[in-house]
Amino acid sequence: MNFDLNDEQKAWKRAVHDFVAKEVKPKAREVDETDAFNWEAVRKGGPLGLLGMSIPEAYNGANVDAISNAIAMEELGWGCGSTALAFAAHNGLGTTPLVWYGSEELKTKWLALVAEGKHKLGALALTEPGAGSDLQGGVTTKAEKQGNEWVINGAKMWCTNASIAEYIITLVRTDPKGGSKSLSMILVPTDAKGLHIAPAEKKMGLHGSPTHGVTYDNVRVPLENLVGVEGRGLHQTLATLDGGRISIGALSIGLAQAALEAAVDYAHQRKAFGHSIAEFQAIQFKLADMATEIELARTMLHKAAWLKDEGKPYNKEAAMAKLYATEMAEHVCREAIQIHGGYGYSREYNVERMYRDARLMTIGEGTSEIQRLVIARHVLADE
Ligand SMILES: Cc1cc2nc3c(=O)[nH]c(=O)nc-3n(C[C@H](O)[C@H](O)[C@H](O)COP(=O)(O)OP(=O)(O)OC[C@H]3O[C@@H](n4cnc5c(N)ncnc54)[C@H](O)[C@@H]3O)c2cc1C
Repeated sequence: MNFDLNDEQKAWKRAVHDFVAKEVKPKAREVDETDAFNWEAVRKGGPLGLLGMSIPEAYNGANVDAISNAIAMEELGWGCGSTALAFAAHNGLGTTPLVWYGSEELKTKWLALVAEGKHKLGALALTEPGAGSDLQGGVTTKAEKQGNEWVINGAKMWCTNASIAEYIITLVRTDPKGGSKSLSMILVPTDAKGLHIAPAEKKMGLHGSPTHGVTYDNVRVPLENLVGVEGRGLHQTLATLDGGRISIGALSIGLAQAALEAAVDYAHQRKAFGHSIAEFQAIQFKLADMATEIELARTMLHKAAWLKDEGKPYNKEAAMAKLYATEMAEHVCREAIQIHGGYGYSREYNVERMYRDARLMTIGEGTSEIQRLVIARHVLADE
């Protein structure tokens, strides 16, 4: 494994960093305070390739390698947790299953559209009001064949991007008998009759990333909207989530990096007992630990991405990187608030927003507990 980025990756990092510094970071406070989605980032990020990171060039995508994808997600997370989550959900969840499993017709119709930045995004609805971690046993949204259509009924919960998406890839039960081969993925356009997207959830953080409950009331879509193979929905979902975890880990590293930078700035400015607080060893040790944890998370994450690029198994490494990076980000953001003292608890400073945004990352795309289950399975099998 090479610990340095290649020239192409370095140029991509610079381009994304400049874009985020100009179009994303300056608006992070505003999107948090107004619950507004940063559409400008979509319009301008599309041409840069940020909406087509997994999409082949034949469908307008940039099709970047997994390390470049992680680099971009870290930069976006550094700029704004909300905007980054929308991009992560779009690339990692909304488009990847289509790229990997979709028919030529579906890819031609939808991928080119959502990669451009002129239209809305993609979304993936797995979680339901009664089931998140246990999709195999818990998914009740069902799809039945009637003539040449699927008829879908049920409800999904916590769907990122639903209100700003062209379509929602929906995990449904197609075999009422249950079991690991009873689920399938179906693409549902958001203008389908009978699809209802509830108002955005009121969340602790990530206010600029809309999350919705979605109900399906006799929604009819053509049989051709099946994504992949009937009965392989769970398998397809788990493979998609492996990649998504690298993305959420990278986003978390970006949030932590931004919190560290804010803490360093503040430590230089703030005076106590006649010194800048950066001169106190207690503060220096905090900053040293934060920087070390970020570096470790980044190295783990790039290793998982590198394995993915090499076509090697990366399920364990992606789970480890997601687990460590997301828990690390929460800790680093906490320490950044501590270094800011009382001001860290104020909305006047950005670290409290970063802390609220980071809190989701140990939950979404598989909780920390589920990552530990995945890792433990590998550890026990290796012995
Ligand atoms: C802001 C936000 C955005 C989201 N975006 C999306 C999205 O775009 N698409 C989507 O489908 N979902 C999305 N989700 C849902 C998210 O993926 C789920 O919340 C997550 O997978 C956990 O599921 P759950 O909430 O049902 O918790 P549960 O599965 O009910 O878990 C509750 C608790 O029990 C623990 N637990 C469960 N099973 C086990 C076990 N076997 N061993 C040990 N502990 C266990 C969990 O770790 C957790 O601590 C989003 C959620 C949020 C909050």
